Amino acid sequence: MAFQDPSHSSVCGSLFGGPDLGPKFFCIAANNAATAGSSTGLGTASGSSGPAAQAGGPRHPAALGGGPGGGATAPQQHNKLASETPSPADMEPDRPIGYGAFGVVWSVTDPRDGKRVALKKMPNVFQNLVSCKRVFRELKMLCFFKHDNVLSALDILQPPQIDCFEEIYVITELMQSDLHKVIVSPQPLSTDHIKVFLYQILRGLKYLHSAGILHRDIKPGNLLVNSNCVLKICDFGLARVEELDESRHMTQEVVTQYYRAPEILTGSRHYSSAIDVWSVGCIFAELLGRRILFQAQSPIQQVLIADWLFLLIDFVFQLDLITDLLGTPPLSAMLSACEGARAHILRGPHKPPSLSVLYMLSDGATHEAVHLLCRMLVFDPCKRISGRDALSHPYLDEGRLRYHTCMCRCCFTVASGRVYTRDFEPVASGRFDDQYEKTLTSVWQVKELIHRFITEHQQGKRVPLCINPQSAAFKTFIRSVLHSAPYSPHPTLYNTNIKSCTEV
Ligand SMILES: [Zn+2]
Repeated sequence: MAFQDPSHSSVCGSLFGGPDLGPKFFCIAANNAATAGSSTGLGTASGSSGPAAQAGGPRHPAALGGGPGGGATAPQQHNKLASETPSPADMEPDRPIGYGAFGVVWSVTDPRDGKRVALKKMPNVFQNLVSCKRVFRELKMLCFFKHDNVLSALDILQPPQIDCFEEIYVITELMQSDLHKVIVSPQPLSTDHIKVFLYQILRGLKYLHSAGILHRDIKPGNLLVNSNCVLKICDFGLARVEELDESRHMTQEVVTQYYRAPEILTGSRHYSSAIDVWSVGCIFAELLGRRILFQAQSPIQQVLIADWLFLLIDFVFQLDLITDLLGTPPLSAMLSACEGARAHILRGPHKPPSLSVLYMLSDGATHEAVHLLCRMLVFDPCKRISGRDALSHPYLDEGRLRYHTCMCRCCFTVASGRVYTRDFEPVASGRFDDQYEKTLTSVWQVKELIHRFITEHQQGKRVPLCINPQSAAFKTFIRSVLHSAPYSPHPTLYNTNIKSCTEV
């Protein structure tokens, strides 16, 4: 299965410039840059063409628990993103590929090695303390991550003098599509695909949670996939470190509505990594049924209602969809709910659970699948399965086998067969440290720290890049940024209520 990115515009010219442009437009000599210094990770794309690829008759350890007949069949397509470095003549034009809540993403060519990468522009970073703290956090996280199912920064473009420093550009690995585009496309989605996708989502989530990080916006559009079906969690604009002190308030303005956990919808002021698992449960059901699980059938709730009331109605309506499926929760599951939400649920008629409808999502909704789904879609976050435990569910055995047989970069193949890694689902080397945030008190201070962070991060690693204003795509690039509001009508955006958030 090859996933295509349906959005393709015709913008010509490289934002970083090509060999015809002098080095004055960017801080490198493009032709010899690839050999200068060690790579910060661009080599990872070539890594996917490792020895694992085509070997026949893969072995698998008993721990993988493959089905009869030697386990899953190797996927038909893999390693298409091989390490070939295209000549400048082969370079695709730079073009926009997505708009997120906090920036715009372009597909561009890295002049140092000719590889296609994703360039994310984070505009208007220093408007206020909240926004620049968030960006600083996201930057630090992107540089912290080292996991194949979590998108990380390959590079950060060199900042100008601090007085002119307004925007940040991050380079990441380029992925062709995302799960939202896949789900709404006519491309077939087999049970094997669903299993290997779900396995990778949970594998990445286990890593994030082991670092103490809540993603807080897990949705199909934030799960990037490439033509090999490798999946990476992206967009850490709303991520934060788990708050261990339950008396501390956390913002409820997180998670796109359809994937928002009931504890957020009921107004809990403190929540845990369980909110991400809920989102994954919703996505699992969406993969099976190819439609959003908790979505209004009719838009009548969104007519003629003032903004402030719209939000409340939205929350209540979303909550009703959840209780329609799970039944009325017991009081013990709503201990952290706000009084209004609790009263709303108790005021209504008692609803019995109707989980059996999950079997009707598709033929792939087997007993095993529905069992795992029901463990993720638990109203009470304390009783919801964790990402780590979900990985032990038998439903994911085949996904694990498939992934480590021919998709991963942690195992490899030798003449005698497949050599598997000791740790199929590794955790982070330590918790992500956010203590520095306590000392951040002014925009200028954060600006200085970000400037220093980027400069120090680059030192000695790769030849630095900067934007080429004379490239053919430059004007379009600038325009696309200006048009990228948080609520741009882009298919990967649903309804993230993040505009006026001041808590973290
Ligand atoms: Zn592996």
